[in-house]
This record gives sequence, structure tokens and C-alpha cells, in this order.
Amino acid sequence: MSTRLKKGGLWLTRVMQGILDKCRVRATCYAVAVLAGMLALVLSAGCGTGGKNDPGRMKVAADIVPMADFCREVGGDMVDVEVMVPPGASPHTYELTTGQMRFLAEADVLATVGLGLSPWAEGIFANTDNPDMILVVAGEAIPRSLLVRAGETHEGAQDEESAGEEGQEYDSYDPHVWLDPELAVYMIVAIRDGYMEADPENAEVYRGNAARYIEELEELDREIGEELVSVSNRKFVSFHSSWTYFARRYGLEQVGVIEEQPGKEPSVGEIAALVEGMESQGVKVVFAEPQFNPRAAEAIAEESGGEVVVEILDPLGDPNHAAADTYLEMMRQNVAVIMEALK
Ligand SMILES: [Zn+2]
Repeated sequence: MSTRLKKGGLWLTRVMQGILDKCRVRATCYAVAVLAGMLALVLSAGCGTGGKNDPGRMKVAADIVPMADFCREVGGDMVDVEVMVPPGASPHTYELTTGQMRFLAEADVLATVGLGLSPWAEGIFANTDNPDMILVVAGEAIPRSLLVRAGETHEGAQDEESAGEEGQEYDSYDPHVWLDPELAVYMIVAIRDGYMEADPENAEVYRGNAARYIEELEELDREIGEELVSVSNRKFVSFHSSWTYFARRYGLEQVGVIEEQPGKEPSVGEIAALVEGMESQGVKVVFAEPQFNPRAAEAIAEESGGEVVVEILDPLGDPNHAAADTYLEMMRQNVAVIMEALK
């Protein structure tokens, strides 16, 4: 589709050039040239360079806000990206709207984290009549040896023994891979390859965008590593297992989580056990998340008699907040909160 439209644009440019060549000396012909120019503008606005949901651009659906950001970085002007799980919602518990199902029915690419993060994405081909849609499961492009089994939020998470093996179900791994910028690089490569398959004509654009963004991720990774090296108390408890890979990457310790299963609130007994564990290990910080009710985290702070503080880390980001409207911003904002809380 995009080939034909672009050739149309080229043809118009040649016609304009022809008109200009033939009547260069006659001032009246300027009017013709201007008219032709306006016509070309009108037509080209309709085929490939203009605004949102342009028919010349690829329609890309992404499961979560960070994935949508990755998809925009790799796609640049060639894509219109829609995020399926809106800011403030959790991918673990979200359900698609009918409007989103309609978007998916016309999408060129669906890019997800996979690893069981978004249960709604699993049966998407059965639920949408769009067999041509290219599915990019970016988290599952990461080598298994770098994945961590779900539920191994602490000690085991750093052992080789807990690493993934061939044949293991992908949804048995912890899905929060994007929060390690080094793992995010694999995800960018997967998105790039998906775009190149869906739109081979613009392969070089996607290759260039991906290479540039990977450099930014590498810079971010260096920056975070340098900052967090000075943190004195490296232990924390988080709301759910969001920070498993981040902690592993930067030598922090996620010693426990409030909700083993996101969306399932802990019992009074579980909270008491967690507080006891935190006391014995000297953990002073609980990281809550904007997508979940902070009640349980506050209960822990109370139970600890003021020994524990609750801070908010955002694993998803929010396009409506300037401090977290891109993945890079969101990560820097989180690192600032971690530095303040653990220093
Ligand atoms: Zn999560």
C-alpha cells in the first residue's frame, strides 16, 4: 500500500518539475505551479506524511506504556502507536475495550512483552479477524539464560540455578524485563525485526532508529550503574515483583513483595510475616506503585512503628506526566526516588 502511494507522490513532483521547466520565463505560469504545488500538498497529506492514524503509516498496538515508547522510538514517523493498557491500569488485570479490539483488527503490528504479563494478549489471534498482523513478543526474544523464574524475587534470583531453561513455559518467568535497560535492548531489536518484516521497504529507517535508541539505553544503563553504586542500604520490599531484573542488574536486593500475585491482597498474617522479615534483614523501604492501591504498603509502615518508609516507584510510566512520559524519563525519575530512599 505505502509503495503505491509514494510513487504517486513522486509522479506529482515530476509533473510539477515539468511545468516549472517549460514556463520558467513566463510569470503567469507561476500560478499554475503554485496550484500544482497545493494539489501535491493536499494529496501527500493524505498519503504518508501527515497526522495521526495516517493510512500511509503502520498501525502498531503495544501492550504497555514503555512498549509503546519503544515502538515509537523504533518506528519514528512511519508508525502510529496505540497503547492497550492505559496509564494507571495494570497489565496483569486489564481487559481490552471494544474500541481496542477494533484497532487490533486493523493493526499491522502488535508488540507485547509476553512472559504472561498481559493475559489478554495470549489468545489475540483467535479473538481478532486479522491474520496478517505481525506479533512481536519482545520479552521472549531475550535469551532464556537471562530470564528469572516467577516468584524468585530474592536470593535465588541471582543464582544461575534459577535461570530459564529450554522447554520451560514462557509464562513461568517474571515478566518485568523492560526495567533492565540491558534486557530492553533485546526488545528493541525484536521490535525492529517485526517492523522490517511488516514493512521491508523502510527497513533501513527502522535499523537506524533502533541503533540510535540502543545507544541511549546503553547510556542510561551506565548512568544508573554509576549512581546506584553509592547506595548504602541495598535492600527493599516492592509492591509486586516489578523490580526483580532491575535489582539484579544494579546489585540491589528485592527481599520480598507485598503481592505475590498482582491484584490479590495479602492477609494480615502475610503482612505481619513480611514486617518481621524486613526487621530481621534491616529493610527500611517499601516501594509502592501508582497502579495499585497503597493500603497494604501503608499497613506495613504502620506495623513497623515508623521504621519503614513508603515511596512510589512507577514501573510503567505515564505519557501525561512530564517526569515520566518516556521510558528514559521514567527510569531516571525512579532512580532519583531510589537514591533518595536508600542512600
Ligand atoms: Zn507487574
